[in-house]
Amino acid sequence: MRLWLLAALALVPASAGASAPTPEALRHWHDREMRVADIGARLRTANVALCPDAVPDPGLAVWTINPTMSADWRAAWARALGLGEGAQVTWVAAGGGADRAGLRVGDTVLAVDGVALAEGRVAFMASLASALTQPRMRVDILRDGHRVGLTVVAMLACPATVELLDRRQRNAETRATAVLIYSGMEAALTNDDELAFIIAHELAHAIHGDAMIGQEKALNDPVIRGRMERDADDLGVAMMARAGFDPDAAARAEDRLAPLQKGWLTGMLGLEFHGAYPRAVDRSAHLRARAAAVRGDMARWGSAP
Ligand SMILES: [Zn+2]
Repeated sequence: MRLWLLAALALVPASAGASAPTPEALRHWHDREMRVADIGARLRTANVALCPDAVPDPGLAVWTINPTMSADWRAAWARALGLGEGAQVTWVAAGGGADRAGLRVGDTVLAVDGVALAEGRVAFMASLASALTQPRMRVDILRDGHRVGLTVVAMLACPATVELLDRRQRNAETRATAVLIYSGMEAALTNDDELAFIIAHELAHAIHGDAMIGQEKALNDPVIRGRMERDADDLGVAMMARAGFDPDAAARAEDRLAPLQKGWLTGMLGLEFHGAYPRAVDRSAHLRARAAAVRGDMARWGSAP
């Protein structure tokens, strides 16, 4: 989540000299980022017992306008997110720690763990970055003209990040514990349950350690890779069900994506989703069977192993 705070900064070098996008375009991009973040947060907290370790996650994003951005970029971001001069809550994960503490999108943040923005942006941002990794954080906000202090008790979550990446390919990838959902994939899957399967599959790779350094040889071996993909599918379907998503959406996502991956043009552009995956028809049938088994487990034991 700390990375999102840097997202506005990250836009600066790429856009140096370029005119700012419209506030509507920035708002739209931000909404898509938060959609991915919401689904990721649900999966990461609901499946914490499956992860090798756990980290505190307050389910919160706070933005400030970076003063080093050019004036038109600052104005565009301010209008896009309704940001004033101060810091503002721009995302609260439903059911997460910040949500339970009563924080709401649009709240003006005055101080985090006693460090006020008024005392300086650098110190404030450092306090915020640190607080987002702690089990508890104290947030002072301005609401209806009054200063209100709230204590956020973080939930435990799998130690992975889930982010939207600005790439038009219909793809997703995992680097160590960083799950990256390409914007082309997010746009292709307008149904949250279907997108949840893609994110859960990638989180399963992160849990299995498939994308760790040293795994390159295994990733290039079609037999081992095929097994990795099957294992990620199996765990992914269980994870999405545990987080309250419809496990049958896994096969639907596969059926929707498979036809989009075909053709020389998509191959030329490197739009490859399958690689060492099983054939689409086999994968789809397997996902359907797996979803039925998971639904059976959920009905019998109230959870999917
Ligand atoms: Zn995979």
